[in-house]
Amino acid sequence: MPNTFGLSHELTLWNAPGKAAALYAVGDNDELHAFLNFHQPDPPFDALRNPDAQRDLVATVFAGAGWEVPAMVNAMREADDLFFDTAGQIRMPRWSSGRVALVGDAAYAPSFLTGQGSSLALAGAYMLAHALATDRDHTAAFAAYERDVREFADMNQALVDNGAATLFPTTAQALEQRDTMLRALVTMPSTPPRPAHSALTLPDLAPPP
Ligand SMILES: Cc1cc2nc3c(=O)[nH]c(=O)nc-3n(C[C@H](O)[C@H](O)[C@H](O)COP(=O)(O)OP(=O)(O)OC[C@H]3O[C@@H](n4cnc5c(N)ncnc54)[C@H](O)[C@@H]3O)c2cc1C
Repeated sequence: MPNTFGLSHELTLWNAPGKAAALYAVGDNDELHAFLNFHQPDPPFDALRNPDAQRDLVATVFAGAGWEVPAMVNAMREADDLFFDTAGQIRMPRWSSGRVALVGDAAYAPSFLTGQGSSLALAGAYMLAHALATDRDHTAAFAAYERDVREFADMNQALVDNGAATLFPTTAQALEQRDTMLRALVTMPSTPPRPAHSALTLPDLAPPP
């Protein structure tokens, strides 16, 4: 969309209970991304493989919304690069079988609502590499990787519950609480990071065997 707000490395967000619209610019250039997010009890499976149904669903959900939303919905109608998906988590009972091990989203996607997917994927890849460098027996290495990372992955997946997240409150009460908290801020928060963010200490990478 046209960058009428002159955004640069920043995001501006509109919320209603269970709905959010964001405009953001990741760089210095004029490219502005539009993001529409909504919560509903069941995933819209019928729309997942049907771009026309996706556009209709989003337009219906955001009908009557204020702020820049009508322009965003119009832009979505015209866009040839629409990305539509459900937000979900992957919880695998095991992360390896035979000589195959899963890492990142394939094993433990936490959903973008946690903001932790890239961190989990990078930390998991590091831990898998460490385990394989430490033990030449890949079965033992895979077991060590899962043993050492699973609790960290579980803690980060637990940061969201059924679609609720600080960025996207799903009820009027949660939205009011979030906004009250933000309005009361007089400085940037200096609270320690959430335990889930620092629950895993990366070992020094072992030298190759
Ligand atoms: C809208 C959105 C916002 C997000 N925001 C954040 C955020 O703010 N912070 C954060 O930490 N995370 C965020 N995430 C999550 C983050 O993007 C993922 O958790 C992370 O990219 C997972 O890394 P990965 O390497 O496991 O998987 P991916 O990044 O998905 O990489 C998998 C790769 O495998 C390729 N591939 C798939 N199938 C095949 C095949 N058969 N052969 C060859 N290649 C194949 C794919 O093309 C892809 O390049 C967000 C995700 C989404 C969707």
